[in-house]
Amino acid sequence: MIIQLKQDIPSGQKETLIEKVNGLGYTVTEVKTQVGAYLIGIGKKAFDIRKIGALDGIQDIHIVSDEYKLVSKKWKVKPTSIDLGDGIAIKDGDMAIITGPCSIESEEQIVKVIEHMKENNLSMMRGGVFKPRSSPYAFRGLGMEGLKLWHRLAKEAGIKIVTEVMQVSQIEQMYDYVDVFQVGARNTQNFNLLDELGKVDKAVLIKRGISGTIEELLQSAEYVFSGGNEKLILCERGIRTYEKASRNTLDLNAVPILKSKSHLPVVVDPSHGIGIREFVPQMALAGVMAGADGIIYESHENPDKAYSDGQQTLNFAQSSLLADQIRKIFAMRKTFDLL
Ligand code: PEP
Ligand code: MN
Repeated sequence: MIIQLKQDIPSGQKETLIEKVNGLGYTVTEVKTQVGAYLIGIGKKAFDIRKIGALDGIQDIHIVSDEYKLVSKKWKVKPTSIDLGDGIAIKDGDMAIITGPCSIESEEQIVKVIEHMKENNLSMMRGGVFKPRSSPYAFRGLGMEGLKLWHRLAKEAGIKIVTEVMQVSQIEQMYDYVDVFQVGARNTQNFNLLDELGKVDKAVLIKRGISGTIEELLQSAEYVFSGGNEKLILCERGIRTYEKASRNTLDLNAVPILKSKSHLPVVVDPSHGIGIREFVPQMALAGVMAGADGIIYESHENPDKAYSDGQQTLNFAQSSLLADQIRKIFAMRKTFDLL
């Protein structure tokens, strides 16, 4: 059960409500976010919701039987819109295009990507400064120095920054320089990290775990939400299956399923999803048709020279073409009567 408390709840009434809910055999967790205050009741016994719903101090009450609750559409039907400021948003009914290199490499590289983005009217840039790499000998990112440099250049250009945070201690350092914290696929179930991101007043993009189910992704999002942060974006980036012909298996089934189960925006990452440069555009466009609210893909001036993930990175000509095609397919999708 989710109970949203009224902003002007009389003093002492919250405690009374908790007692009542406990009395039903339910345990209660209090959640306070940037947007509201909630009581989450966990239990199994049937009860008459009107008995609780009629009590003072309650804005809204719902029974949500899913493991995830606050991110569920059963709780909030209206889609959540993630506002990044300056008229830039990630939201249902819109198509966010997020692009940039796998890794931030140098000032020159950042400048070139920004130029490319400006030419194509793109305003959200991805890139890693802390890189999770399978090999400890691979390039692991420029760290805070790279982020500060990138932030200066991006801010001048009016471009928002999407970048991965790998551990709790980085959140505070990165905070002033980031617009969207990305939780990588290897960290989707790093519950300490998720808890801490719940305390932050900044958007969080959560990638699906490498072997994670759709439900586990939603539960990870629930961690951040119940920690206090409602500004969440879900990302399908492919899962590990027995298939070896592609880097991962981009599970586009997840897109309409996530959209039907949750009010949060969903973006698709075809670059990590298939891992093969020449097939990234097809999968990006398929993601648009599947109902994504955004596409996040890797681009670089010279992908063959990229420090990481060059094999799945588009060059600028390919990226310009794809951005244009994404917009066209999205315009077409809107004319279809799909869910
Ligand atoms: C990335 O976005 O470059 C990345 C490392 O993604 P993922 O966590 O999905 O592997
Ligand atoms: Mn990458």
